[in-house]
Amino acid sequence: MRKWNEKPYHSLDYMLRERFGEKVYKVTLNGGMSCPNRDGTLGSRGCIFCSEGGSGDFAADARLSIQEQIETQITLLAQKRPINKYIAYFQAYTNTYAPVPYLNKIFTEAISHPQVAVLSIGTRPDCLGPEVLTLLEELNRVKPVWVELGLQTKHEATARYIRRGYQLSCFEEAVRNLRQRRIEVIVHTILGLPGERRDEILATMEYLNTMDIQGVKLQLLHVLRGTDLALDYEQGLFRVYERTEYLDLLIDCLEHLDPEIVIHRMTGDGPKDLLIAPLWASRKREVLNLLHHRMKERESFQGKVF
Ligand code: SF4
Repeated sequence: MRKWNEKPYHSLDYMLRERFGEKVYKVTLNGGMSCPNRDGTLGSRGCIFCSEGGSGDFAADARLSIQEQIETQITLLAQKRPINKYIAYFQAYTNTYAPVPYLNKIFTEAISHPQVAVLSIGTRPDCLGPEVLTLLEELNRVKPVWVELGLQTKHEATARYIRRGYQLSCFEEAVRNLRQRRIEVIVHTILGLPGERRDEILATMEYLNTMDIQGVKLQLLHVLRGTDLALDYEQGLFRVYERTEYLDLLIDCLEHLDPEIVIHRMTGDGPKDLLIAPLWASRKREVLNLLHHRMKERESFQGKVF
């Protein structure tokens, strides 16, 4: 039986230990970029759920150089435990939405740090033109490059409601282009988007199984202050998941996903000061403990190692 680091699914922690021989930590960087969904190119209000910080509310201060951002976070993290390796994660906004010479500068600065083992870049599939792809291909020869794509859902009607701003075919082309260059792809999904039933969410999981992707982030829908989603929520246009309901859905998603796909995230950790609902989501440790407990009860996970 396959042992996924004492969890019954293919966890990121397990993958990192297997690949790098030790635990690898993340430093969250801010390249100071914007997003075509915010600067007026595609729209000016962003995706309906996206906070002012461009889904990067924990990212470092963009006024610091990349080197300074990395060093500041390493100093803090290494105070608690000895750490040798890090993932340099460009999280806030769209991290390939800038001229290629600038991208080259900041990504090279990150990847050149001796303790950085992986460069991970959060972006949109419609911001991966040929020159950007060539740059990523070159960087991927230096150290592994992961590209994180915010798909959220396979359903076009939901994509229109959340104002994602690109079609599924665009995502599919981006995945093909990245994989042709051996760049690993991590897909972000949101569970509990307004109007999506359980079977539709599971259809997104089945769809991902058909794509050549290496990782997935399963993010609980958070309603954050200041977003248009919050306005719809306050008008009672949709409801958010109860905790046990979400955990059962999450387990269903894990059952449906190809076990080769690495699970990078299972809840999400939105900023507490912005979180309107569901408030139980802010107690992440408790949620994960309960999840593991419920998995043990589920027949399909019986006999798998926790
Ligand atoms: S693409 Fe990302 S950064 Fe841009 S509006 Fe949507 S969630 Fe926010």
